[in-house]
Amino acid sequence: MVAIIGGGPAGLIAAYHLAGTCEVQLYEQGRNPGRKFLVAGDGGLNITNGAEGDGLLAHYSPSGRLRPIIEAFGSGELRAWLEAIGIPTFIGTSGRVFPQRGIKPAEVLSAITDEVRKRGAHIHTGHRFVGFDEAVRPIIEQGTERKTLHADACLFALGGASWAKTGSTGAWADAFRSIGVEVKPFQASNCGVEVDLPDSLRPHIGKPLKNIAVHCGAKTVRGELTITEHGVEGNAIYPVVPELREQLAVQGRAELIIDLKPDLSEERINEKLRDATWNERPAALRLDRPSLALLKAFTPVERYVDGRTVAHDVKHVRIPVHALRPIDEAISTVGGIAMDEVDDDLSLKKHPHLFAAGEMLDWDAPTGGFLLQGAFSTGCWAAQRIVERLGLLSEQV
Ligand SMILES: Cc1cc2nc3c(=O)[nH]c(=O)nc-3n(C[C@H](O)[C@H](O)[C@H](O)COP(=O)(O)OP(=O)(O)OC[C@H]3O[C@@H](n4cnc5c(N)ncnc54)[C@H](O)[C@@H]3O)c2cc1C
Repeated sequence: MVAIIGGGPAGLIAAYHLAGTCEVQLYEQGRNPGRKFLVAGDGGLNITNGAEGDGLLAHYSPSGRLRPIIEAFGSGELRAWLEAIGIPTFIGTSGRVFPQRGIKPAEVLSAITDEVRKRGAHIHTGHRFVGFDEAVRPIIEQGTERKTLHADACLFALGGASWAKTGSTGAWADAFRSIGVEVKPFQASNCGVEVDLPDSLRPHIGKPLKNIAVHCGAKTVRGELTITEHGVEGNAIYPVVPELREQLAVQGRAELIIDLKPDLSEERINEKLRDATWNERPAALRLDRPSLALLKAFTPVERYVDGRTVAHDVKHVRIPVHALRPIDEAISTVGGIAMDEVDDDLSLKKHPHLFAAGEMLDWDAPTGGFLLQGAFSTGCWAAQRIVERLGLLSEQV
């Protein structure tokens, strides 16, 4: 028997693949599996990304360790699998992959759980992993009852530590530390950042600044950002969170540089402004109100009033960042089981009968479908390696 603990995307896909080959018992603490998956679907479910091969791999760190895993079950394979279980997908203009229009996230989750059950895996909800016995066998609690799992192999897919209300609390970390496994502290990834917002920006809270570029350290990201109650967030911010985290750790402060007109050079901006009066300048540059407010708020007043450096300033709005938003609000976390603690097959080096997959491992990727892809890829990989380890006859995974 193979036990899988955690009913998110990583655990469910592993159950799907293992169920064709052996008895599979999946334990999930919540009343239903896949709660974070449903939350992920709230703003449009990016289930993977159209990037393939090295283009896909480039979004992951550590990419070296993840290479064989992503190569074995990349975005093409995930889309084919979804299609096979009745969920066709399409690639949006941004490269993100979505379930075909009209298919809701709950239907995707049902299609997955139905297939898992059809293949014979048992899903036990309301069952919580609480630790290990002396023989390093997992202990599961249901209500007031506790039992030890006697499994040939056990795959943990307990998720990271953000959005605790979905069940991904990271509370499992101490149990793994108690068996000698290094669990790195969780930190927010793919999260908003805190900025002291002047009052002039408050009317623009909730408004997006589209088609901008964000520079941070050596990284540049195109996309959009939204002004929030606490600072800024958005798909142009999330990918630079690792750089911001590093700057905050080393210097205690960090900085974003926003280019409000990434398609225009400074020369071109100057040309466009040549015949414009002061009041005509925003229109000449097609700067919308939130962009103009941001420029004004973060350009020293004497420069802004002087106006001669406007072309440079439009492309270099310097925003001091004093913190990342709290971990519970983050889309994902870094930290978790150190990658050095797992073998190539994702089993724990110190306890080879235990495997780990999904966000509970210490890897990172930006939003855009890469997180779910990483969870599905690692779940699929661990399942396949368990099949090999136990010498089970397997269908093609
Ligand atoms: C707001 C938001 C939006 C997102 N949008 C996207 C997106 O569009 N695209 C994308 O790729 N990713 C997105 N993500 C990230 C994505 O949802 C996660 O990376 C992914 O769900 C991780 O899968 P997982 O299986 O590793 O863990 P999880 O989905 O976190 O599942 C872990 C499961 O383990 C269970 N569990 C935990 N502890 C125990 C225990 N002790 N005993 C038993 N069960 C336990 C939990 O209840 C949970 O069901 C988003 C996340 C959030 C929060």
